[in-house]
This record gives sequence, C-alpha cells and structure tokens, in this order.
Amino acid sequence: MVGIVVVSHSTPLAEGVVELARQMGGDELPLEAAGGLEDGSIGTDVERVRAAIERAMTEDGVLVLMDLGSALMSAEMAVELLQSDGRVKLSEAPFVEGAVAAAVASRGGASLDDVGAEASRAIRMKEAQLGAEAPAPGSEPASSDHEAAPAGPQARIPVLNEIGLHARPAALVAELANRFDADLQLAKEGGAGPVSARSLTGLMTLVARRGDELIATASGPQADEALAALEELAREGFGEGVAAEGAGAGGAAAGGAAAGGAATAPRAARPEPSRERAEPSASAPEPGTLLGGIPASPGIALGPAVHFGNQLDAPRERKSQGADVELDRLQSAREAARAAIERDRDQVARRTSTGEAAIFSAHLALLDDEALVGEARSRIEGGASADAGWYGASRQTAAAWRALDDQLLRERAADVEDVGRRVLDALEGRERQPGRHEPGILIVDELTPAEAAALDADLVRGIATARGTATAHAAILARAFGIPAAVGLGPAILSIEPDTPVLLDGGEGTVLVAPSEDVAQRAERRREVALERRGRARRQAAAPAVTRDGIRIEVSANLGGADTAASAVELGADGVGLLRTEFLFLDRAEIPAEDEQVKTLAQIAEALDGRPLIVRTLDVGADKPLPALPMPAEQNPFLGRRGIRLSLDHPELLATQLRAVLRVAAEHPLKLMFPMVATAAELDSALAAVAQARAQTGVDAPLEVGIMVEVPSAALQARQLAASADFFSIGTNDLTQYTMAAERGNELVGELLSGPQPAVLRLVAETVAGAQTHGRWVGVCGELAGDPAAAVLLVGLGVRELSMAAPLVPEVKEALRQVTTTDAADAAGRALYARDAGEARRCAADLLAQ
Ligand code: PEP
Ligand code: MG
Repeated sequence: MVGIVVVSHSTPLAEGVVELARQMGGDELPLEAAGGLEDGSIGTDVERVRAAIERAMTEDGVLVLMDLGSALMSAEMAVELLQSDGRVKLSEAPFVEGAVAAAVASRGGASLDDVGAEASRAIRMKEAQLGAEAPAPGSEPASSDHEAAPAGPQARIPVLNEIGLHARPAALVAELANRFDADLQLAKEGGAGPVSARSLTGLMTLVARRGDELIATASGPQADEALAALEELAREGFGEGVAAEGAGAGGAAAGGAAAGGAATAPRAARPEPSRERAEPSASAPEPGTLLGGIPASPGIALGPAVHFGNQLDAPRERKSQGADVELDRLQSAREAARAAIERDRDQVARRTSTGEAAIFSAHLALLDDEALVGEARSRIEGGASADAGWYGASRQTAAAWRALDDQLLRERAADVEDVGRRVLDALEGRERQPGRHEPGILIVDELTPAEAAALDADLVRGIATARGTATAHAAILARAFGIPAAVGLGPAILSIEPDTPVLLDGGEGTVLVAPSEDVAQRAERRREVALERRGRARRQAAAPAVTRDGIRIEVSANLGGADTAASAVELGADGVGLLRTEFLFLDRAEIPAEDEQVKTLAQIAEALDGRPLIVRTLDVGADKPLPALPMPAEQNPFLGRRGIRLSLDHPELLATQLRAVLRVAAEHPLKLMFPMVATAAELDSALAAVAQARAQTGVDAPLEVGIMVEVPSAALQARQLAASADFFSIGTNDLTQYTMAAERGNELVGELLSGPQPAVLRLVAETVAGAQTHGRWVGVCGELAGDPAAAVLLVGLGVRELSMAAPLVPEVKEALRQVTTTDAADAAGRALYARDAGEARRCAADLLAQ
C-alpha cells in the first residue's frame, strides 16, 4: 500500500484529516499526520514532516498532501533530506478530498502514480455534487474520468440507501471492486458515467441519489462474481440500510405518527431473518401441541380457529383502459379508502381512551404519501391498470420499510400494506371484516391496525399471529380492547386446520392446539373468573393500592403524549411514573422551543390535577432517531449513543429541556429523571446541567431528580449512584434486554425477554439495597410493572412505585390489595432463586386470586 502523509499548519487539522481518511482507508493503511509545531502552536516543522514520511514509508512509496504556504516548503525540504529516490510524491490535490480519495485508492492497491492521480481528481466530487458545470480552469474536463464501458455482463443496481452514493458507500464499492479480478464500471441511468468502480472520485461524480439506478458493466475473469457482490452490497443499501420509499417527508411523518410519533430515519441494516411473510408449515400441528409466542394481551380464550387471510394479494388481471381512466379509478378508490379509514378511526376513538385512534391519522397520511401515490401514478402512466399500479407501489414501499433496521418502522410496513389493501379492496369492490360472522380465535399472519379496529370483541375471542411483537399496533389495540392475544407464534399457527379448537393464553403468549375436554373446561372457568376480576378491578380503580398490611403502593401510568393524561386518571392512575418526552419530539422536524415544551408539560400536569408527574429527559439514540438531530449510523445502536449519552453530547438540547421542566416544576408537582445512566460521572454531569438550568431560570422550586436504572452497571452501582440521585425508576424493558443480551422487540429472542427473569430480579434487589443505603425510593416503569404477578414480586423486593400502560392500572392495583408485603417479600425471595421467568412468576401468581 502507498503510505499517506498529511501536512498542515495545525495539529488538530492534520489529525482530523487523518481520522477522516482512515475511515475510508482502514486501519492497515500507513497514514500519518504532521501538523503544527512541536509545542502545539501553528506552523510547519520540517523535522516532523520528515519523521512522518519515514513512518508512513512502504515499498510502494508515500504520497504527501499539504494545506498551504509553508507546508509546501517544509514538505519539499523534508523530501530533500530523505533522498527518497522518487518514492515520495508531493500532491497538489485538495487537502481533505485528496487525502480521502488517496486513502481509498491506496487501500485498493493502486500504484503511487495512480494514488496521486486519484487524489488530484478529488475536487471533482464536490464540483459534480454542487452541480458546478464548468471544471476549474486548467483542469481536465470531468468527463475524462468517464471511461468507455467494457463489453461484458451488466446489472442494474438500485440505490436504496437514504443518502445515496456518498463517500462512505462509495468507498465500500471501490473496496469491493478492488477485491475482484475484473474491470467494473458504473454509470447512472440517464446520467453520468461510466466510471471505474475502483475510483472513489469517479463514483462520487455520478451523484447517485436514493431512487437512482446504476448500470454496472464488468469484464475480466471475475466479472460475474464482481457483479453479484455489487448487487448484494446494493441490496443492503451499501452498508447503510435500505431507506423506505416513503421515508421522505410524507412517509416518515406517517411512520412517525403511526408509532405515536416514533422513529423516522433509517439506519444501517443488519440481516433480518424474520421479516418475510410467514408461510404455513407443511402439516397441521398435532392435537395437544403447545405453540409458544409473545404475550401481547392478557386473558384466556377458547374457541375454533378462524383464519383470516389478509395478505396484500395480487389483484385480478385487468387491462388498462388508458392512463386517464385508471388514474380516475385510483382516485375514487383512495377516496373510498379514506372514508373507511375515517370510519374506523371514529370507531376506535369511541372504544378506547388511550389515543390509539392516532394510528389511523397515520394511515390517512399514507394514503396521500407522494412516494406511494407517485410510484403508482408512474406505473399507471407506464401502462399498468390502477389495480396493478397501486399493488406494485404498495408492495415496493412495504418491502422497503420491512427491510429497515428499526423495529418501529418495520412494524409500520404492516400499515403500508393495510392502506394498500384498503385501496385494492375499493378498486375490486370487496369488503373484509375479520371475524364478523364466526366466533372464535382469529389466526392471522400479522394483524393490521385496521383489521384490529374492525374486530368485534363479542365474536373474536382471541388473536393469534404468526409474526409481530408486543409493541405492534395490533397488539396495542388488542390490549386496549381487552382481547387476549399472543403474537409471533411462528408459521405453524397458520397450519392449524380451520375450526380446530384452540386455547389461547394471552398472558403466557401460548396457543394449545385441540386441548382435551378437561383442559378446555378448566380454561373456560379461568376465563370467566378473569373477566369478573377485571370488572371488579375497574370499579375499584380510583381507590389507592394498599397492601393487606397497610403499605400504600403508588400505581401510575406511562405516557407518551399530552392527550392521554386525562384518560390515565380515569383508569385510576395515581400519577405519571414515566413521561417519555421523546414522543413529543420524534415526529418533529425541529426540536420544540423551550416555551412550547413548557406548554406541553404544563398541559399534562394540569390534566393530572395535582398528581405527580415524572418527566424523563429525551431517550433517543440511533435506535430511535430524532429527525431534528441527524445522528451517524451505529453498528449496535442499542449499545450506542442513546439516552443520557446523547443528551450530554448535546448540552443545549438538554439545557432547553431542563429549563422547561424547571419552569413547570415551579407550578406543579414534577420530578425529573435521566434515562440510560451507566456511570456516576454521567449523573454528575446531568446534575451539573440541572444546576446550570436553575441558575438560568432562577427557579428554586424543589425538584426530585432521579435516574432510570436500565443498564446493569447502574443496578450494580446503585449505592454509589444513590449518593446523588433522589430516586431510582427501574426500566425493566432495557434492563432485561441488556441482562439477557436479547434485543428488545426481536421476536426471535422473545423468550429471553418475557416475564420476570430471575437475573433481572436480582438486579432489582441490588438496586433497592443500594437505594436504601441513602434512604432513596425505588419505582419500576418497565412493562414488567404491568403484569400483576410480577408487580407483586417487585413490591416484595422493596419497590414502592409502579408505572405501566394506563389500562393495566386497575388490575395491578387489585393484585396488590390481595397481598401483604411480607408474603410478597417471601415470594420474591424464592423468585430470586427460580430457574427461569415462568417459575419466578409462579412464586407470586400463587398468591393472587385466579
Ligand atoms: C424501560 O426500558 O423499561 C423503559 C421504561 O424505557 P423505554 O421502554 O422507554 O426504553
Ligand atoms: Mg428504556
């Protein structure tokens, strides 16, 4: 490899350029900085340059890039001193672009002359991207990079990643081209090129953006292999993941709204094995087979299997009657679909009180999404019927969303299909209503929100899906409607013969195929008892949860928006134990200003009418990207810069939020907490930011400041953290994820995430012990708190506040009223030594009325 030396007047500048070039050139590349003077001041030093060249020297030679003025002179003198026999070349290339281009070329094994030439051409990347038509005076025209395409096999390469073929993806292409004994050339369909795929500069001058198509042509012994590898790389979005078709303004906003304002920007992809539509397995499961999935909505349901095919089926073949007629048909069908969506939205709004109807607003936005509609339009103009055009566009968009490395967005692919199907139904004059005519357990690959909304709870006794997770909308709706549901049961569920009796346990996430008479009868009794219990709990919801030995446990709600606070109070919440403020930000193009944040927080606090409100600072990171704050892709986003790590890296963002919290705290009973704290130093920095915000606002109202315990290190260091945190709120969702090394929401590892894992309970015990050394209180705001049996265990371990999805509040309160803290502690003591989550849960379940 050719070595590269970067000479600058400034040490940080030289080091920065080296860092940048290193990203493209890799760790192996001999790349050295020679910046500034020995004492760190500005200037260039011949001796430093000489030493850097020596360090970078290889048998292929060294290319030296310089910033300006005396850097040139110092480099020339250094070369003279070295007597390098032509093995050192000084480059006139632009400093930064040249270093980057040279790094890629050197990594690819180019000679010193070629590396130099590649660096010299580097300015064209910028020229091409900024659309500077005229080449700089004295330079060759940019088109001289563009070589005649070699004869040989060709492939069409779609650009699917969000930002297109910018530097990093282009460097991957160049690296790939260098691996094969083939001449690989790329041209943009209808645009620039062909250019050599080995040339970063050439690739960048293609200015290939998402949605463009490249024509790859290869020749040489490994032409086919090179093309296949390129196709593979392109499918993965050149290492950056595949952007959703609708992930521009319209689509992203729709996805965000669908998730209650959730994630938008796509990120680096990893292989996603379970995203394909599940196909039924060849043979039906035997009677007595127990299928295990993910608990999505508690309750027992017994009944015949009722299949509901909700695939986005290809429409009947139909000849286009001309683009105008077909476009009119599509328009009318979209209007019919709009009316149907609005009807469902109103119906859901009447049946639930927790804001689920917002899902349908997202569907309405999707219906008008330009990415979807525009694609359908161009297919129709290209000769397709309205049905085929719309179907193709919906499928393409859903597939792109499903390929994203973001759980929430992946789940939104079902929304795209849902909207796609509605319009197709209107085009074909069909109407679907799952479970309308037959009572039973609805079996479906993946239930969409619209279908969930249309369910008749008197007929649909339970829902069993092959795919999906507990955070999918259908699961959320099922919970809100009180329909038992188990999701992610795998393809075997689809092979159950229609009308086969099945027993679904939503609390366990299981389906038992053809249970014996005896088992069925017992299940039916359990179901009746459970229904009775729920009714009783709702009637008592407003009363406090006091254990039989007189200990009051605060049972609060988790909120993600301002509009659900009042309904949480109606469901008996004693307050809000977790306000996920990121949901106030996630669908915003810009971070709301301090005053707007104050207004939203005050609105929630007012709806709570004096009840406590715990505000969590932003918990975003690469897994929940914030459109207003672009973040680099991370390989392992859950282990990356999220939560407090991100906030501390953006002090102004944090300060704005803290000032808003303090201003509202002056009027209302607010508490503040920080997410994802892993070390005492992070807490110190966060507290310093609070002190600064106090000084800025002049608010000296009391404000308890706590932390979420959701990283094992925080649990294990609870004693140290309790010295400065006023309280702990344990986030069992993340704590379980990190303890069990199982990514949240990944149905393939759902088993590891479900229930009270004994290892997680130990960390809870550790947290409580640490908190007690400083007299601090401990709450739990992860999903575990909403499971009555787990709630008892948590109280047994010393937790005194529980916060959960609002509809779960009544039953958790009811469960706590049935136990003494001594019984709970006894059960918890045994659960700590249980073999698994099921056994741990049973330690407390036995204490509760069935
Ligand atoms: C948790 O991790 O348990 C938690 C409550 O936080 P979130 O689900 O918002 O990550
Ligand atoms: Mg969390």
